[in-house]
Amino acid sequence: MDILIMQPVNKRTELNKKCSKSSFSIGNYSVQNCSLDGNNLTVLTNNELFLNTPSQLLPIDETIRQLKPTVPVFCIRPKTIEATARYFLSKFPGNVLYAVKCNAEPSILKLLWSAGLRHFDCASISEIKLVRTLFPSATIHFMHPVKPKSVIFQAYFNNNVRDYALDSIEELHKIIKVTKNGDDLGLIVRIQVAENMTLHDLSRKFGANATDAVTILREARSIAKRLGICFHVGSQCLEPECYENALDIVKRIINEANVKIDVIDVGGGFPGTYPGCIPPPLGEFFQSIERGFRNLNLPKETTLQCEPGRAMVSEACSIIVQVLARRQDSIYINDGTYGNLCDAGPVVHNRYPVRLLRQNGLIRAEKNNLKAFRFYGPTCDSLDVMNGPFELPDDIEVDDYIEVGEIGAYSIALKSQFNGFGENIIAFVSDDPLKVVPSDENKNN
Ligand SMILES: *Cc1c(COP(=O)(O)O)cnc(C)c1O
Repeated sequence: MDILIMQPVNKRTELNKKCSKSSFSIGNYSVQNCSLDGNNLTVLTNNELFLNTPSQLLPIDETIRQLKPTVPVFCIRPKTIEATARYFLSKFPGNVLYAVKCNAEPSILKLLWSAGLRHFDCASISEIKLVRTLFPSATIHFMHPVKPKSVIFQAYFNNNVRDYALDSIEELHKIIKVTKNGDDLGLIVRIQVAENMTLHDLSRKFGANATDAVTILREARSIAKRLGICFHVGSQCLEPECYENALDIVKRIINEANVKIDVIDVGGGFPGTYPGCIPPPLGEFFQSIERGFRNLNLPKETTLQCEPGRAMVSEACSIIVQVLARRQDSIYINDGTYGNLCDAGPVVHNRYPVRLLRQNGLIRAEKNNLKAFRFYGPTCDSLDVMNGPFELPDDIEVDDYIEVGEIGAYSIALKSQFNGFGENIIAFVSDDPLKVVPSDENKNN
């Protein structure tokens, strides 16, 4: 709750000097404390400031007026993060694990924690250490099915991680050996599910087929304190029934293996809302899961859990980028596919809602005179292009700002330093999310 602004490594020296003083200010932000965290210098403000009086969080227009940012500003809406977490925690019929890879910003993890989230899905030792350092009492689930031995050792003996995903007998033996026959292991077997209606299919990379899953479950049962089955339907799943179908496969595997199952983990895949890609409400996904889970007829004490990444954070964040050049229907901006906008690039080709903000921070809400633009990012690489289309007023000009919304998932997590770019400022803002407007949708149906 306390992190207000982060400055990148290049600004470290300057801010370090300021940090050695007890407090200083950036614009109107009064900064009381700061710390170094990986590549970022984290500047902390006084907690009480916004915890007790959230109205003092600045809106985006005011943020622009004060910062006049020349690097992308990653805007986090604390209220939205907390509301989404509370929605998942109250509506999902089981435990909710946040998939840390989707957005590992410590300030976001802290907001999730303060909303009551206690379980984290990690896949690497740095994710594990980050979560363990921030929240000593969190439950960490190591859900990567293929792990280095040294990392299993550190997870088990130094970071109190007890639950491990696996999708092969070799991995089972590895976990047993490294944990020295740990007698408190949760062993969660990842199974393959059919290729689904998702934008990012994950069925090929991981997951045991039904025959192998049965073998692994039978062998793992003798050592596991908790034995489970997990799957991932693929990211940005648009079809609630995918989960019920996957749980049908789970049912067949359980019947065949004929061993007691303690945990069913339905993975992530819950969708965000993007222009041209408006999914059914999350509640329909939860209902599909509930039906599929009930149909397994497992004992009452069986744990059901999910691992949302995207749906937890996508709506709560936006970035403010600046226009560097305009040529016909192309706008050159200071962020791109090697920065926060990887998924807008030629590989994933995601679209995001946008709006124009003038240099003085004035928000242009008008819907007339809109023109479809493509964006080019700041690097010299030809893959640094985002075809959108992004609809903005035709009189947009150099030095104007553009807010890109729905950008919380797989954005800042993928940012690189390629070509010397990658600086970010992180700001907490008071605005409501920049939503996909219905007109974006109509044009793409
Ligand atoms: C990436 C990932 C998730 C999160 O997926 P989303 O589609 O972002 O919800 C959950 N579980 C595992 C094992 C993952 O690899």
